[in-house]
Amino acid sequence: MVINFAAGPAKLPEEVLKEVQTNLLNCNGSGISVMEMSHRSSNYAKIQETAIADLRELLNIPQNYKVLLMQGGGTGQFAASALNLIGSTGTADYVITGSWSAKAAKEAAQYGKVNAVLPKLASYTTVPRQSTWKLDPNAAYVYYCDNETVEGVEFDFVPEVKAPLVVDMSSNFLSRPIDVSKFGMIYAGAQKNIGPAGVTVIIVREDLIGKHLKVTPSILNFELMDKNNSLLNTPPTFGIYVMGLVFKWIKANGGVAGMSQRSKAKSQIIYNIIDQSNGFYYCPVERQVRSRMNVPFRIGSSTGNEQLEKEFLAKAEAEGMIQLKGHRSVGGIRASLYNAITLEETQKLAKLMLEFYENNK
Ligand code: PMP
Repeated sequence: MVINFAAGPAKLPEEVLKEVQTNLLNCNGSGISVMEMSHRSSNYAKIQETAIADLRELLNIPQNYKVLLMQGGGTGQFAASALNLIGSTGTADYVITGSWSAKAAKEAAQYGKVNAVLPKLASYTTVPRQSTWKLDPNAAYVYYCDNETVEGVEFDFVPEVKAPLVVDMSSNFLSRPIDVSKFGMIYAGAQKNIGPAGVTVIIVREDLIGKHLKVTPSILNFELMDKNNSLLNTPPTFGIYVMGLVFKWIKANGGVAGMSQRSKAKSQIIYNIIDQSNGFYYCPVERQVRSRMNVPFRIGSSTGNEQLEKEFLAKAEAEGMIQLKGHRSVGGIRASLYNAITLEETQKLAKLMLEFYENNK
């Protein structure tokens, strides 16, 4: 048996994959696969509408927020968020706490003035408290990344700011309850917690729609996407279908509150082993903002003993635990514990970590 600890594309619930398999050749009694279905057909319309309705229910999304399904991934939204929202003042605040928010800020700088709210951090292992932030009173929005997937840094608070909050939740979407009304725009690429790569969810307050820069490509234009019910062009139909099944799975497993409980329990198991290893395992992230989704750690010392890390990865792989290698920019190990990873699977990793510690301390 293989346990997939990948950072994304990542593990999907087995029940969902089995349902996809069962219906692959005959989707909802249509006699054809969802992949062969017209995106204008009533059969497909039902799939997309149900997915959006279930998402609205899961997050209790207020009526004055639109849900858009787009292509282009998180990177597409680095551009889209700026193109659609920066125009009202021409400037935006960026809270850069890791690789992904840094990339978003760089992209936005092509379309307006970007104010870096924080001094450049020596390492991405912290979220400076809001009292230290230098916000621009003229900012059209304040942007941050709720969970930095590469470094394993997750916000433990929702910023309180005047300008609309724009947040990248690609790697912790639907892993805990959120108050949507605190945000101007929330977005998430699907390939970590909610489905296959190719579809991106955007939740945007309706009064923020329609202020896009003139150069905005139609495909990234929130107003056009909204007017066309996310069917401006052919959407990633298969991805949206699978995502809809994942939403049903989350509903059947305690909703986002259930996911939150599971995530806390799972990540705590791994962090406890790290903390009780006398420095054998080392996580560089400040405790308060340790990610429940991506647990990065080094083995042997704070900078990592590469030989030991190699051995650990080989042992893990021999036991079927795969994709545990840290991001190429930081090295070491990264265990991603997204919604689909079970408690039992996490315990299996914990057992390996304990054994490895005992044999190599
Ligand atoms: N934001 C976050 C938090 C991510 O983890 C990623 C991808 N790993 C992205 C954005 C970029 O997403 P994509 O590859 O879909 O463009």
